[in-house]
Amino acid sequence: MHKTQSRGDETTGLSEWKKRAPYKIHDPSEHFEAKYEASCHCGRVKYQLNRVEPLDSKLCHCTTCQTQHAAPFQWAAIFHKEDINFVNGHHDLEWYDPTDKSIEHKLPCKVRCSYCHSPIMDEGRNMILLFPSLIHFKTKADRLNFKPRCHMFYGQRVMDIPDGLPKWDGLNDTSNLIEDSPPDLVREVEQKRDKERAERFEKGGNK
Ligand SMILES: [Zn+2]
Ligand SMILES: [Zn+2]
Repeated sequence: MHKTQSRGDETTGLSEWKKRAPYKIHDPSEHFEAKYEASCHCGRVKYQLNRVEPLDSKLCHCTTCQTQHAAPFQWAAIFHKEDINFVNGHHDLEWYDPTDKSIEHKLPCKVRCSYCHSPIMDEGRNMILLFPSLIHFKTKADRLNFKPRCHMFYGQRVMDIPDGLPKWDGLNDTSNLIEDSPPDLVREVEQKRDKERAERFEKGGNK
């Protein structure tokens, strides 16, 4: 099949994805309690969220996000796939996998509105990283729930953001904390890694 015809396609069938989270439309009997409403720029894609606080909220400075979002960095909030309910336009989506540069639906991939091309979310294997800029926040408290908690791939940044938040050189939790990261957290991570190193050494020595 030609690449342009495979848009929205995947190996298990053209329409399989529509029946699965995060794309499946919740049945009224599931009592999906909408805490937030969101839409893309053109309004064709609309969704709701039933979780008040995201599992995490972060700013990514990697060069892929810079290119894909045409922005100095990207703001993403992590949710379970079951936390989202598309109420409109969930068939008007397009995918892009930056690793394989493929437009087929395979995970992980980036999800956009196929009309206005607003980035909607990154769909991972288990979670979704959605872009809170699309949410219509009604109160300041609502917005505060989505306040970024860390910076990742800060080593690739185009600008400094001296906000005192943790700043990971690469991926959060596995790379190093740099710049004005909270000193307590830097110490905590160092101690944790020293301990892990010692444990690894002990295990190796006991073989
Ligand atoms: Zn749109
Ligand atoms: Zn990124």
